[in-house]
Amino acid sequence: MKRPVLGVDVGGTRAKFVVLGDRDQVLQTGDAASDSTSAAATLHAVAAALDPVLWGLEDAAGTRDMGLGGVGLACAGIVDPHRGWLGRSPNLPGWENSDLFAAVGGVFGNVDRTVLNDVNSALYGEFRRGAGQGCRDLIMIALGTGVGGGVILQDSLLIGAHCGAGEIGHMVLDPDGPVCPCGNRGCLEAYAGSVALLKSARRAAGEGTGPLADLVRDQGEDLTPRDLADLANGGDGASRELFAAAGRKLGQAVGNLVNVLDPQRVIIGGGVAGAGELILGPCREVAPTIILAEEARDVDIVPASLGTGAAAIGAALMAGRQESTP
Ligand SMILES: [Zn+2]
Repeated sequence: MKRPVLGVDVGGTRAKFVVLGDRDQVLQTGDAASDSTSAAATLHAVAAALDPVLWGLEDAAGTRDMGLGGVGLACAGIVDPHRGWLGRSPNLPGWENSDLFAAVGGVFGNVDRTVLNDVNSALYGEFRRGAGQGCRDLIMIALGTGVGGGVILQDSLLIGAHCGAGEIGHMVLDPDGPVCPCGNRGCLEAYAGSVALLKSARRAAGEGTGPLADLVRDQGEDLTPRDLADLANGGDGASRELFAAAGRKLGQAVGNLVNVLDPQRVIIGGGVAGAGELILGPCREVAPTIILAEEARDVDIVPASLGTGAAAIGAALMAGRQESTP
């Protein structure tokens, strides 16, 4: 019988985890403190939070061998999944340039292990259990603080020659556009990430009056994309236009990607995507105007369905896939 597998989505401050059973059913979910300076400390904190009694393994409680069949990690940054190596990772400075297979082995013993970039992991979760089920060719764009991306072609994650494939957020859409945190101008991230959206909101509000200006003033530094979406859903034109502008740039990126990769579906995830049709509608209008192949113009552009747990689920499913390999 397949043993339980653990998936961990390691963020800068929290590590979210999920344990899946032999039929990929969820046995436990939770989170533990993440130490951005130490992979070992973080993995020990996760191990301490695991409760094998919940998995039906009474005898294993409190022991190092909890009967896990595999452990998968999802980390932001450049990940080499073949070597289990994490390269550049701004959120986890103390983990950079380290062997995460060894770190997992040091805490969990001799289990199967996988390491993926966090957006690739979320994409894999959506592919197996969420909005990407039934597709063999799939793209995901995650509109978070920044903008991440991932690509699955013929059922396989695209990693690339230097483990850098899928950086959709840094596709340059206008070389004269706004400056992106990466240093270039006009990247998708500079239009559709939450930092960019909030910046646009503050600029649009300016010194003016009206609901958007009131919201920006009232919320100050606490302003969130959710606040803007609530205002837009209430019918405010200025805030609707913020999402529409981001959605049109997203559509431009999607159109370009469809021309290159011809996926069956494009999944839009991340906090900004919580605005739903406010951003997906304009995206769906622009993308087909760029897509050459007539048959590809009605490509599915859909919201992600697994929410913030997607990367942990994807990491566990990937670890479980290894475990089930004879
Ligand atoms: Zn960029």
